[in-house]
Amino acid sequence: MKNYDWIVIGGGITGSALSYELAKKGLKVLLLEKELNPQNATRYSYGGLAYWSGTDKLSRQLCQEGIEIHRNLSEELGTDTEFRELDLLLTIPTEDDPKTVAQSYNKFAIHPQLLDVQQACELEPLLNPNEISGGLKLPHGHIHPQKTNQAYQQAFVKLGGEIKIESVRQLLQKGNAITGVITSTEEYHSQHTVVCAGGLSRSILQKVGITLDLYFTHAQLIMTPPVEIKLRTLVMPAILKRLMVESDVKEFGWDNPRSDIIADVMEPGAIQFLDGSFCLGQISQIRTDPMAKIDIMSSEKTIRKEIGKILPALQELPGTLHNCLVAFTPYSNYLMGKIEELTGLYLFSGFTSTLIFAPPLARRFANWVTKDSEQIPVINQSIRI
Ligand SMILES: Cc1cc2nc3c(=O)[nH]c(=O)nc-3n(C[C@H](O)[C@H](O)[C@H](O)COP(=O)(O)OP(=O)(O)OC[C@H]3O[C@@H](n4cnc5c(N)ncnc54)[C@H](O)[C@@H]3O)c2cc1C
Repeated sequence: MKNYDWIVIGGGITGSALSYELAKKGLKVLLLEKELNPQNATRYSYGGLAYWSGTDKLSRQLCQEGIEIHRNLSEELGTDTEFRELDLLLTIPTEDDPKTVAQSYNKFAIHPQLLDVQQACELEPLLNPNEISGGLKLPHGHIHPQKTNQAYQQAFVKLGGEIKIESVRQLLQKGNAITGVITSTEEYHSQHTVVCAGGLSRSILQKVGITLDLYFTHAQLIMTPPVEIKLRTLVMPAILKRLMVESDVKEFGWDNPRSDIIADVMEPGAIQFLDGSFCLGQISQIRTDPMAKIDIMSSEKTIRKEIGKILPALQELPGTLHNCLVAFTPYSNYLMGKIEELTGLYLFSGFTSTLIFAPPLARRFANWVTKDSEQIPVINQSIRI
């Protein structure tokens, strides 16, 4: 029988950051990841750090803590995360009034600079001036998400943490306590198990009767090999239609998973990594079955067509379409804490702007665990479906 202080399920950025912070406190931690080479949301992310996006005291503080962590993370972990400061350029479609769109950003800690079409194209020469009525410029951070994830995992292992490539089949339950997990090959025991399984967190919790306001989209994007062409900024749309779809999510019948598309949003965006490769996105689809088959050809065609309007030079880049699941919760920036009904079970998932919020919250979580467990938030009926 193998015993740990903490078992962490899922080796994306949430699980890796949390495993590292728990191990840093001297705890014996097991990180379980189901795939050797995971096709997860972290791998296919743009890598943007939206530290401007805090809207209240806590989220603004977390954004500050998050960017400070990233500024020092390569040094702390001993591996380069490719952190850099970078302009975010949000495109405003021709049918929208730039001033009205800019005003909708007043709630954020840092207000964007409104650019006219010429200024936007000077900042990002690859932009098509005929498809925008202006742009918003914001200071953003950027990392290589996969390298950052690996950096966290390597530092975790150096601290004595264990990583096993095994899929968690179910949680071990004794009465109202979770006492560990059963994987494809083994049984592991712990008084504390935390679910960081991204889009699959929902189904892991459902197996022990816990249904939360935690959902997922199927996201599609194109990854390219390194190319000569240069994009200066991270480009995304100023109006995120995805957030509107996500606010209606409860109505989509999650108890009877369906593989057909219930909602479908295309938001043209692009980022170039330091090696010259691109991530071009992004389609977000609500299909309530996490295993739903995706029409790869149709998604690739849509992304190329929509990217071609905003950034014509990128439309025909060589590249491959990928699909991943992205967890979200509609009413807050994350779902984090202990599950009230089951002793020993915790959740760390459903983040918005995960790359900026997860590292500081992982650090706070580990502090609470070791210093003042009363402070760990409780996930109870009030945030239940
Ligand atoms: C195109 C795109 C662009 C994005 N851009 C940004 C951005 O610029 N900034 C930002 O902050 N966010 C961005 N995001 C969102 C961000 O990438 C995700 O929110 C984040 O990576 C999620 O991390 P995670 O750890 O929750 O999930 P994941 O990275 O999906 O990791 C979950 C892991 O759990 C594992 N797992 C699941 N079930 C089990 C099981 N039973 N047993 C063991 N392991 C299991 C999976 O294999 C997976 O590796 C973007 C997403 C996409 C798709």
